[in-house]
Amino acid sequence: MSQNILFLAHVDESGIVLPKVAYEALGAAVDAASQLGGTLTIGLVGENVQAAANTVAAAGARILGVSGPDFAQPRYASDAAAVEAIRKAVAPDIVIAPGTSRFLRVMAGVAGRLKGRVDTHLTSLEPVDGVLTAKRWFYRQRMEALIQREARPWFLVVDSGCHAAWTGTMATAQVESITVHLPAEAQRTTFAGVRVPNADAQTIRPDAKLLFVAGAGWSKKQADGKTHLPEAETLILEFLRKSGASLGGSKSLVDQTGENQAVLGFMTHLNQVGQTGSTPRHPKGLSTCCHGEEPHVVGWRFINERRAVNLDPNCGWARGKADVLYVADAFQVMAKLNSLLAEKAPLGG
Ligand SMILES: Cc1cc2nc3c(=O)[nH]c(=O)nc-3n(C[C@H](O)[C@H](O)[C@H](O)COP(=O)(O)OP(=O)(O)OC[C@H]3O[C@@H](n4cnc5c(N)ncnc54)[C@H](O)[C@@H]3O)c2cc1C
Repeated sequence: MSQNILFLAHVDESGIVLPKVAYEALGAAVDAASQLGGTLTIGLVGENVQAAANTVAAAGARILGVSGPDFAQPRYASDAAAVEAIRKAVAPDIVIAPGTSRFLRVMAGVAGRLKGRVDTHLTSLEPVDGVLTAKRWFYRQRMEALIQREARPWFLVVDSGCHAAWTGTMATAQVESITVHLPAEAQRTTFAGVRVPNADAQTIRPDAKLLFVAGAGWSKKQADGKTHLPEAETLILEFLRKSGASLGGSKSLVDQTGENQAVLGFMTHLNQVGQTGSTPRHPKGLSTCCHGEEPHVVGWRFINERRAVNLDPNCGWARGKADVLYVADAFQVMAKLNSLLAEKAPLGG
């Protein structure tokens, strides 16, 4: 059945392009429109949407924009009003949006106001027997649900790293501007600024090609009967710097930090991968000094190629959870890897 599809996005902090996940969600929207035989409209929100609109002009869709200083920064009331205004102008059956923190805060509320339905954290959109079907993982990525709905409008918010990004040449876009008059109560919240950790502490890099995971073994007594924490810190930080990899940790390791033990200073609970941690998406993963237990490995669900370094040939990784297990001392392996990387350009993103 033909569906009228609206793709929504906001301009990113640069003010001239969309966030990376928005181009991925646009790829999903373009595919859905062609598979379902629907029309695609693009709606953009930002202080000035023209430059970002130029980057998606080649998609060939009608482009609507809500712009002005009120729409420069994330704010529930103004973003919700912008999304509602674009929706009203297009009257879509399906709304597809990227899962940015800005839009994840807004989409459920707008869908509720419009008596529509919303599904978030979607990993794919595809027709099954001609019916649009969204996929989402549940129970810490152990079960995959296929969702079909008859209710409209249906808001579909797509997670990053799940669809190839749409690409096209830059062109001058014809943007139809929609004026949104914000009532005073929608302007009460003011944007104060963004607080981010300093650059050295920024070890979580969702766009990196490689996820490097450190386990509790790095903090354990080694063959000489002593711990080697300063050496572990130097090896890991040097590897992250040279490879551009993102840093993950096992629960045992990050919990030690919480208990004020002298462990890796840059490792926090935000780095934890697993059932009670995160489920990052990267093409490759390298685990070091981590046993590969099930509650940890469940967080590796979306890592395509998995390798591990462990001294124990009977560790969890050896039992089918890694594609390649190096039975070796991670201190030695990482030192060698760092010296090889020193001769090469960085691999990671
Ligand atoms: C409800 C529940 C939820 C949980 N959720 C999570 C979760 O989200 N994430 C998570 O990680 N865990 C989780 N766990 C805990 C999980 O079961 C394990 O306890 C934890 O992952 C173990 O961490 P580890 O592998 O780093 O440490 P360990 O099990 O102590 O393993 C350390 C490994 O390091 C190796 N090693 C030591 N020195 C070296 C060296 N020089 N070179 C190479 N290898 C070396 C050892 O051989 C050993 O295999 C959960 C548990 C429960 C019950």
